[in-house]
Amino acid sequence: MKVGFIGLGNMGAPMAANLAAAGHDVVGFDLAAPSPDGGSTASSVAEAAHAREVVITMLPDGAILRAVAADIIGAMDKGAVFLDCSTVDVESARAVAADAVAVGLLALDAPVSGGVGGATAGTLTFMAGGSDAGFDKVSPLFDIMGQKAVHCGASGNGQAAKICNNMILGATMIVTCEAFALADKLGLERQKMFDVVSTSSGYSWTMNVYCPAPGVGPNSPADNGYEPGFSTDLMLKDLRLSQQAAAGVDADTPLGQAATAQYEKFVEREDGRGRDFSAMLPRFEKRGRSS
Ligand code: NAD
Repeated sequence: MKVGFIGLGNMGAPMAANLAAAGHDVVGFDLAAPSPDGGSTASSVAEAAHAREVVITMLPDGAILRAVAADIIGAMDKGAVFLDCSTVDVESARAVAADAVAVGLLALDAPVSGGVGGATAGTLTFMAGGSDAGFDKVSPLFDIMGQKAVHCGASGNGQAAKICNNMILGATMIVTCEAFALADKLGLERQKMFDVVSTSSGYSWTMNVYCPAPGVGPNSPADNGYEPGFSTDLMLKDLRLSQQAAAGVDADTPLGQAATAQYEKFVEREDGRGRDFSAMLPRFEKRGRSS
């Protein structure tokens, strides 16, 4: 396929490289990054979108997505697919898709999970919102860039799935870390705590797969000085998106709100920025009930 790829950062660059390596004709554009491995470079977003069957965007946020969409929608051929894989607010995803569909394009929001490792290995999970026709057309590309793609329904539902998942992830990581810190103070060895919880009803992905305690459970960022991994900054971004979405539909999300406040404090007022999101454990170790 003729693919345009806009946003060749930590995630976009390896995703574009995997498409090119699989034989697709990839033209890339990024304000800062060089051309995609195996592909060529356009001189503007509009040029990267012109005469492409699929245009993929992998951008930092909804405002940037809206600006890029305004430049590319008119440059794309009717029937082409505008595939946004960024994590953005549901409202921006729906607005951009509506503009694209209004001029005869197919539009999908398909944020990912799996991080830079998954992008590089081609093992991402895509959660997609948009039409069946759009989903079917880009499925062969999902198969190259990822291991799984779930069609979640109409436009915006991919973003909805992503922020609901990450709201669970953020809140679960916090409670896993606070439980380890409590166990420490109660004199319970971390390994014993893991042995019990990982096979009991408190088990979770954050305990069993991504354990925040160094030297316990499978290898994780905790074993590497809390280098990300998945950074606190991105966790905070996704938690804020969850609260923005919750406010927009009047959903009561007290734990999501509390998790957002905890990561906000950690990133903006403490030393959390740039660390893995599981570094909540050393944070709780140092705290008492009145800190
Ligand atoms: P990044 O900052 O590394 O890459 C974004 C790229 O977009 C940059 O290279 C930047 O130069 C480019 N860009 C910004 N404005 C542009 C414009 N107007 N035109 C063209 N290019 C422009 O970010 P990333 O880590 O690659 O993340 C991209 C998206 O994927 C984000 O929405 C993020 O939330 C999401 N995501 C990231 C991860 C992760 O682990 N990094 C995991 C899942 C989802």
